[in-house]
Amino acid sequence: MLKVTKFGGSSMADAGQYQKVRSILQADPARKVVIVSAAGKRDKKDHKITDLLYLSFAHSQYGVDSSRIFDLIVERHTQIRDELGVSIDVEAELTQLKHRLDEKTITQDELVSRGEYFSAKLMAAYLGFQFVDAADWIRFNLDGTVDREKSYALLKDLYDDGGIVIPGFYGTMPDGHIRTFSRGGSDITGALAAAALDADVYENWTDVSGILMADPRIVDNPQAIPEVTYDELRELSCSGAQVLHEGTIFPVREKNIPVNIRNTNA
Ligand code: ASP
Repeated sequence: MLKVTKFGGSSMADAGQYQKVRSILQADPARKVVIVSAAGKRDKKDHKITDLLYLSFAHSQYGVDSSRIFDLIVERHTQIRDELGVSIDVEAELTQLKHRLDEKTITQDELVSRGEYFSAKLMAAYLGFQFVDAADWIRFNLDGTVDREKSYALLKDLYDDGGIVIPGFYGTMPDGHIRTFSRGGSDITGALAAAALDADVYENWTDVSGILMADPRIVDNPQAIPEVTYDELRELSCSGAQVLHEGTIFPVREKNIPVNIRNTNA
């Protein structure tokens, strides 16, 4: 039995959320593959790390100092690291990144992919799982689609049944450059991993309890829809329900892998 689990930004927002993720994984030994998003908002006024990364890139493009924004990115990751008590030198890699940003030698895609990268590094260290970089197996074609056959074969080789953590949201182009999916694309990484490893289920952990009949930010306590078809899910995603990225459906439907949408906080 293999469960591929993907945790969204709100599940990665702070050390307390990491602890919840660990309990969820420990509750079921079949949960051996973990895909993570970049740290999301801790509360309504907070910032998503991915947004801060896009913002610092825009600043540097216009020649505006991005140090204050970048400091927020450093602070969040060092705080999570210190509260979890893991030893990873995030400062060294972040300093290097800031340097490349200032020198304009980093692409926007590579920079914004680092939120997921640091989440996965921290989560892997915390869980004692292997870090498997998405850059080492997700292969894009020149037209921006994913070469699924090649990607699946690469992940099968890298898989370690002692548990792996993969950063969501990005892969590499044929020339080795990092390319990201569109926003919310870590869901796709999870679906690709589930398909590559022929998982029994793809669990997508978020901050809502399944697919609801209405947007819980607008309607109080909407009921959950117990089951939908892949087509219905794709249609809902395409027409704005922010449950799953629309690109998630194809890899799992092709392999007939059920998707289970779960709430990290419940
Ligand atoms: N971190 C990226 C975003 O905010 C990707 C994701 O979370 O799925 O869009």
